[in-house]
Amino acid sequence: MYGLKTEACFDSAHFLTDYYGKCENLHGHRWRMVVYLKQEKLQEEGTMMDMVLDFGVFKKEVRALAEEFDHTFLVEEGSLKQATMELLESEGFTLKVLPFRTTAENLARHLCERLREKELPVSQVDVFETPLNCASYFAD
Ligand SMILES: [Zn+2]
Repeated sequence: MYGLKTEACFDSAHFLTDYYGKCENLHGHRWRMVVYLKQEKLQEEGTMMDMVLDFGVFKKEVRALAEEFDHTFLVEEGSLKQATMELLESEGFTLKVLPFRTTAENLARHLCERLREKELPVSQVDVFETPLNCASYFAD
């Protein structure tokens, strides 16, 4: 079995619904995502021969996804009033509405699924909410 690993960071705001503690308030993180690929065999021909995947291709996809989340407000769908959403958007804020509670665990799963849609053999995504706290999602 072979593996590759790369990472990217994005800054975004969020809050947790139905949470009693500091995280119920709007706050931000520098989210660090670490993406692991796992593949049984190396490529057998072409420019990627004897590689899992070209690092350039891997990094490009991971960075594009991080870019999509960077400097946004991650909002769980239905957690803010429609009027609030419209007001925030009218003020020029970029909302990223997600169909789940915006925990690091759910983000790890979502990011993993998004990268697997790009045909990357992703086996694991770690999402660090702080330098010392990390949630992981395992694809298999
Ligand atoms: Zn948080």
